[in-house]
Amino acid sequence: MSYFSDVKSATQHYGSLTRIDFCFECGKSIEKGVVLYDGYVADRTEKTISLHPACAALLGQRLIADGYLNRRN
Ligand SMILES: [Zn+2]
Repeated sequence: MSYFSDVKSATQHYGSLTRIDFCFECGKSIEKGVVLYDGYVADRTEKTISLHPACAALLGQRLIADGYLNRRN
C-alpha cells in the first residue's frame, strides 16, 4: 500500500484493475491524493486498486471489523 499526494504522478508496480483515478471504494474520480493497493487477481498476477485516502481508511476499518473477529473461521 502506498500513498501519493497527486494521482497524476503516482507510480505503480503492477497494472491497474481499474483506471488509476477511479476509487475502488466509492466509485468516484480521484483528483489529488491516492492510496494504491496491490493484490492478487490470479496465481502470480497482481493488480493495483486506487482509493481516496479517506476511502482507504474506511475500507481498512471495514475489513478489520469483518475479518478480525472471524479470522479463525
Ligand atoms: Zn473514494
